[in-house]
Amino acid sequence: MKVCKFGGSSLANAAQLNKVIDIVLADPARRIVVVSAPGKRHGGDTKVTDLLIKLAQTALNGENTDRAFGEVAERYAEIASELRLGDEIVQRIQDDLRSRLEQCASLRPDEFMDLMKAAGEDNNAKLVAVAFEARGKKARYANPRDTGMILTGSFGDATLDPESYQKLARAFSNFDGLVIYPGFFGYTRDGKVATFPRGGSDITGSILAAAVCADVYENFTDVDSVYPCDPRIVEEVKEGEGIPTMTYREMRELAYAGFGVFNDDAVIPAVRARIPINIRNTNHPSEPGTMIQQSRRVVPGTVVGVASADGFANIVVEKYLMNREVGFGRRLLQVLEDEGISYEHMPSGVDSQCVVVKEQFLPKAREHRIVSLLKSALNPDFVTVERDLTMLMVVGEGMCYTPGMLAKACLALASAGISMSMVNQGSSEVSFMIAIRTADRNAAVRALYKAFFC
Ligand code: ASP
Repeated sequence: MKVCKFGGSSLANAAQLNKVIDIVLADPARRIVVVSAPGKRHGGDTKVTDLLIKLAQTALNGENTDRAFGEVAERYAEIASELRLGDEIVQRIQDDLRSRLEQCASLRPDEFMDLMKAAGEDNNAKLVAVAFEARGKKARYANPRDTGMILTGSFGDATLDPESYQKLARAFSNFDGLVIYPGFFGYTRDGKVATFPRGGSDITGSILAAAVCADVYENFTDVDSVYPCDPRIVEEVKEGEGIPTMTYREMRELAYAGFGVFNDDAVIPAVRARIPINIRNTNHPSEPGTMIQQSRRVVPGTVVGVASADGFANIVVEKYLMNREVGFGRRLLQVLEDEGISYEHMPSGVDSQCVVVKEQFLPKAREHRIVSLLKSALNPDFVTVERDLTMLMVVGEGMCYTPGMLAKACLALASAGISMSMVNQGSSEVSFMIAIRTADRNAAVRALYKAFFC
C-alpha cells in the first residue's frame, strides 16, 4: 500500500487536481491520499492557508470579515465550478468556514488561529473526495479526530502524541477503498484543533505511512527529483540527472545544509519506521523521482550531492596552552547554554577552539555580551567572532573509506581562488563540511559540482 501526499501547488486549481486524480487512479496501491490546502496558482498568488490566517486575524481584530471570507470561499468555489462539482460542496465549505468563525469569541487566539488554519486542508480533503467521485472513483474523506490523530505541544507547533500510531493503524485497518485525508492538523486530547508547523502536511503523510506500515511514502511536489545541487546556482544541473536514490543519512545531511525539496523533520516518522520515501513530480508523473531509503547500492568514490547553507557565525577562542586546561570546553559551552544558544559544530586546534552557531542565535546586539561572558569564564588571549559564513556540505555514502575525496574538494576550491575558514568531517565519513565566506558561495558550489559530477 502507498501513502501519497500532494502539496498545495499540486492542488491549486482544477487542472492540477485532475493530474492528482490521474496519478492516484493509475496505481491501485495508492490508497491513502494526504492533501494540503490549495496553494499558489501562479507567482503572485496567495496560498489558501495564508488567506485563512488573514481571515482569522481580521476576526480577532474585531473587523468585518466579509472580504477575507470571500477570498477563501472563492478559491474553493473556483475549483468546484471548473470541475463542475455542483453547489453542494461549495455550500458545505462555506458553512464550515462560518461555523469556525463563530468560535472566535469562545476560543483563545492561538486555538482560534489553528482552527481557521486547519480549514484549508480539511475542506480541501472534502472537495478532493467529491472530485474523485465525479470521476467515478469512490473515495471517502477521513477526519483526523475520528482516526486518532492526537497532537500535543503548542498550537501552531504541535507534535504527535506517540499513542496515535496504534489508533491510526486500527482506524485504517477498518477502511477499504480510497481515503482522502487532510494534512497539517490533528486534535488535542480535549478535542481542540491543533496544527503542525507550516508545511505540516508532509508530517501528516509521514505519520500515516508509518502508522499503516506503507510500502512507500510518495511525496508529490513540483520538481522531477532531488538535484545534486541547487539548480538556481548551477543551471546545467537541471538538464542532467536528478538523484535516483539516496539514503536517509544522505538526506539528513543534505537537508541540514539547505536542500529545500524536503523537510527532514517532517519525514522522521517514516524514517524511524524505515518506510522508503519517494519524492515525485505531479506535473511529470512518469519520472521515477528520488527514492530515499535505508540503504542503497553505492559506487565507491562518488558523491550524491553538494549543499550550501548561509547564515553561520564562528566564535573563535584562543588561549596559549588551552589543551592542558581541564574543563575549558565545558565552561565555554556552559556560557552558550546559559544564554540559550545551541551550537552546530565545534572544531578545535591546539590552542584554539571554534564554536559554529547559527547567526540568528547570535545577533550583533548580543555579541558584545557573549564575548564578555566568555572572557570572564575562560580568561582567553583572544575571542573573535567571524560572521557571514556559508557551510558547504559534500555528501555521499560512496565517500566512506575512499581516499582523496576531501583533497578533491580542496583542490577545486583552491583552483577557484576560494579560501576555507574551517573544515570538518564527522567520523561516519558520509559527509564533510567546509566553511567559506558567503560571498564565495556560488563560485564554490559550481567548483564542487564540476569536481564531483562532471
Ligand atoms: N497548508 C499548510 C501550509 O501552507 C500546510 C502544508 O501545505 O503542508 O503551511
